[in-house]
Amino acid sequence: MSCGWVSRHIGLIDTLGYGAKEAVAVYVVKGSEGAALIDAGYSPSWERVIKGLRELGVGLEEVNYLFLTHFHLDHAGASHKLLHHLPNATLIVHEGAIRHLIDPSRLVDAALAAFGDDLAPHIGDLKPIQPERIEPANETRYRLGGVDLEALFTPGHVPSHLSLYVEADEAVVTGDAVNVRYSSIPFPLPPASPPYYDVDNALKSLERIRALRPKILCTPHYGARVAGDRLFEEERRAISWWRDEVERMMDEGMDAEQITAGMRAKLLEQAGLKLQDLDGYARDILLTRLLKISVIGYMGFFMRRR
Ligand SMILES: [Zn+2]
Ligand SMILES: [Zn+2]
Repeated sequence: MSCGWVSRHIGLIDTLGYGAKEAVAVYVVKGSEGAALIDAGYSPSWERVIKGLRELGVGLEEVNYLFLTHFHLDHAGASHKLLHHLPNATLIVHEGAIRHLIDPSRLVDAALAAFGDDLAPHIGDLKPIQPERIEPANETRYRLGGVDLEALFTPGHVPSHLSLYVEADEAVVTGDAVNVRYSSIPFPLPPASPPYYDVDNALKSLERIRALRPKILCTPHYGARVAGDRLFEEERRAISWWRDEVERMMDEGMDAEQITAGMRAKLLEQAGLKLQDLDGYARDILLTRLLKISVIGYMGFFMRRR
């Protein structure tokens, strides 16, 4: 599904991030008195997001809020372009992310350093956002008429992360507070981006979301998932398994390259797969670059603690 309603008030738009299908989703929540867009996608995706809003029947002037779950470019990258086309939208983001949006130069450099310069055409850029269009998020309810969005601070992936609870639909729009799961690989990957990833907070935030007993998790990477005890247990187990495995390999004196290779081999073996069985996106991005980034994120967590 490239674009459609996943519950009564919540629509999904596939931003076609990285030029891939089902890699980066953003969500729309529509009430009787307005709408909210949650996350923006990479900057080259902005036209796709505008088209998605139209396909869902959401007028551009109807959008009151652009929430960013956090400042990473797959979530924030298209903000400046979208705000230009959403005349009534206020950008709501965790207070700790505001400085990155007013001066995003470091974000772009950090993304290219992490993913590789050759991905620059996909990652694009982010222009500074005018401070007068930004408001810091509060843990409060944002009303759209018949449906409210409740902002929750969910640190772990980064300290300044928020998720949005839509009680009317028993759904949480998670951002990167949950693991990434793609149809092309049969196991979850913790989005443990350095340098801020914090395993303990990631587990606490997961419990906070679980305590709301949502029936749906609207995830950016990728799609709406049926939530329940089984899913939350799998989520928790994946985060803890990574923590134990990476720590053990660090204790054995392995470096980031070696741990990445070790984790890849274990994940593929458990799934009964070979790297060459996977499609290009899964092989070259997910199990190569993203996997290494997550390993470095976990290693950073342990090094800060030691
Ligand atoms: Zn992120
Ligand atoms: Zn992300």
